[in-house]
Amino acid sequence: MTVSLRDTRSSELYERALQYLPGGVNSPVRAMKAIGRDPIFIERGEGAELTDVDGNTYIDYVCSWGPLILGHADPEVIAAVTEAAASGTTFGAPTAGEIEIAEEAARRIPGIEMLRMTSSGTEAAMSAIRLARAATGREKLLKFAGAYHGHLDGLLAEAGSGLATNAQPTSPGVPSAATAATVIVPWNDAEALIRATEEHEFAAILAEPYPANMGLVPPTDGFLELLRERATATGALLVFDEVISGFRVAAGGAQELTGVIPDLTVVGKIFGGGLPAAAYGGSRELMEMIAPAGDVYQAGTLSGNPLAVAAGLATMKRLDDAAYLRLQATTEALAGGLREAAKAAEVPVDVVHTTGLCTVFFSEHPVVDYASAQRCDLETHGAWCRALLARGVYPPPSQFETWFPSLAHTSEQVEQTIEIAAAAFAEIA
Ligand SMILES: *Cc1c(COP(=O)(O)O)cnc(C)c1O
Repeated sequence: MTVSLRDTRSSELYERALQYLPGGVNSPVRAMKAIGRDPIFIERGEGAELTDVDGNTYIDYVCSWGPLILGHADPEVIAAVTEAAASGTTFGAPTAGEIEIAEEAARRIPGIEMLRMTSSGTEAAMSAIRLARAATGREKLLKFAGAYHGHLDGLLAEAGSGLATNAQPTSPGVPSAATAATVIVPWNDAEALIRATEEHEFAAILAEPYPANMGLVPPTDGFLELLRERATATGALLVFDEVISGFRVAAGGAQELTGVIPDLTVVGKIFGGGLPAAAYGGSRELMEMIAPAGDVYQAGTLSGNPLAVAAGLATMKRLDDAAYLRLQATTEALAGGLREAAKAAEVPVDVVHTTGLCTVFFSEHPVVDYASAQRCDLETHGAWCRALLARGVYPPPSQFETWFPSLAHTSEQVEQTIEIAAAAFAEIA
């Protein structure tokens, strides 16, 4: 049975938005083009639930693309932000909270002794690269196909054909000079990685250790260890972009989970607890190259913003061992249920998950890299997402993203999600 979404108010707002905002949105994926519909305008969120401007409610599996591991409008986070705001929203001078959040991150993340805060993950990744180049005196970067590190010029690039290829800009406006120093290697391809590190002298090998921006494509056994080994052997810095995986797949991110410790780590999303904050960190020796301790320049008007610090700290305080066990159980129930529902409807999918992350690939074959992710049936995925939305489940509106189950999702909500997913699979089968 086809169910359609009531979206009169969203449609009106979209028309208005199109007059003043390119594509009607402030970040492209929100436009929902990839699943063949118009954007849905949100009115409010509470726990795992979203309400749109037409009064539809959804069980939300985007959770602002990761920051909201505690769900929407968490009372403790709201109280912390409100209290901070009452004392002033920004000073452009240091505050005690900045030390506290740096201590907290360093305590959790093995590769971070010291960090510098920024306002976005993009900025943090850009700055980590500057530091890696300064520390090594080299310019080239190794990036994996399908990995996302923000929208900085040098990394808005994908490979041409071939194993390890020089990068081509993926956006107009990115000069070819900006990507000329970037070499793209397929994820999970040991041979291509080894060859690239033999052919080029890299400043940094950059990776999302649990890539989640081509859908979730975990590393194959030994691949992160190989990254570490090749970086060390060739004098490159290993940079883990844990903007999604940090504080999510485990308290200390993928590096805690796997024991592979990078030279530099980029965090964001959960780190800011739903407000704009990110950071890059590493050993004291490397980080003290940053101004004013050293001469690598990097700055920010709102860096270390007291509201964002309060939200990040209030969030991290709740992320203890019990929380991760619960998140793991929630994710496993969700992934297992989605897998069963697809099987019952005879829709071929590959459901991949790790604690706090899950992707339903519309693929008959396992997805191991960006090329195999791109072979998914995007039409059917889009139809399934539209069917979910119409029934009250809000999935990431793209095949190349992951679901973000949170600590706010109850087992009843997960069960309800699986029932809805089954109906949506039946509709598209
Ligand atoms: C979201 C994301 C970024 C960029 O963070 P912004 O805050 O959106 O600039 C960088 N790296 C990864 C892995 C991300 O998921």
